[in-house]
Amino acid sequence: MSGPRIFCVANQKGGVGKTTTTVNLAAGLAQIGQRVLVVDLDPQGNATMGSGIDKRALEATVYDVLLESTTVADARRRSPEGGYDLLGANRELAGAEVELVELERRERRLKAALQAAQADYDFVLIDCPPSLSLLTLNGLCAAHGVVVPMQCEYFALEGLSDLVNTIKQVHANLNPDLQIIGLLRVMYDPRITLQQQVSDQLKAHFGDKVFDTVIPRNVRLAEAPSYGQPGVTFDPVSKGAQAFVAFAKELVARLG
Ligand code: ADP
Ligand code: MG
Repeated sequence: MSGPRIFCVANQKGGVGKTTTTVNLAAGLAQIGQRVLVVDLDPQGNATMGSGIDKRALEATVYDVLLESTTVADARRRSPEGGYDLLGANRELAGAEVELVELERRERRLKAALQAAQADYDFVLIDCPPSLSLLTLNGLCAAHGVVVPMQCEYFALEGLSDLVNTIKQVHANLNPDLQIIGLLRVMYDPRITLQQQVSDQLKAHFGDKVFDTVIPRNVRLAEAPSYGQPGVTFDPVSKGAQAFVAFAKELVARLG
């Protein structure tokens, strides 16, 4: 296969662990020798800050790339600790939603931009905003697959059906390559019976699509962003860091 594997990390709910998954999977993949680009598609810019790059000081962001005023090669920056490149975002990106509507190929802009940089990477990970917006659509059109982080809570399964339907629609109408790579259980606490039950339901319903690796609730993962780095590099021996490195290995092994 030529070119990088391009994956969206998506879930239309906020606060479910998308950004934590994106930056830690990126750092985990980098640690096992993969060349990785993270694309921050969320105007909150959390993946940018959490990679040690000040979103307020960016000269160019994914916004400029979507509007074709710059290229990925010119706008990307190196995460100082993460070991990967990042195409950053900040509040400016919120405006892209409105501006893109007017443009041609409005949902395929990211895909086109990434093609020019494809020789440089083994993986591109796209951190999506918590919505099924035109920005997320750009991510889904550019990607081969979707990694869905989820908390094993009561309403998690309900929210999942909206995302699964959106992915089906994008697959049918815009991007025949798109598939669900897998569901990643995050912030998992096995002592909570409900979480075990939801986890079992998830496996019954989605089978192989549920990754074997489980990401535990771990405070070091939550602390790392304020130090401008992924948990994987911030505290490599923590349970959370080790889980994300294991997840990176599982993902590479699954892709064969
Ligand atoms: P999203 O990008 O989906 O909005 P985040 O990745 O920002 O979600 O996570 C939401 C919050 O939960 C953040 O404060 C983050 O630090 C915290 N968090 C995420 N994963 C874990 C985990 N495994 N253990 C502890 N805290 C976590
Ligand atoms: Mg986020």
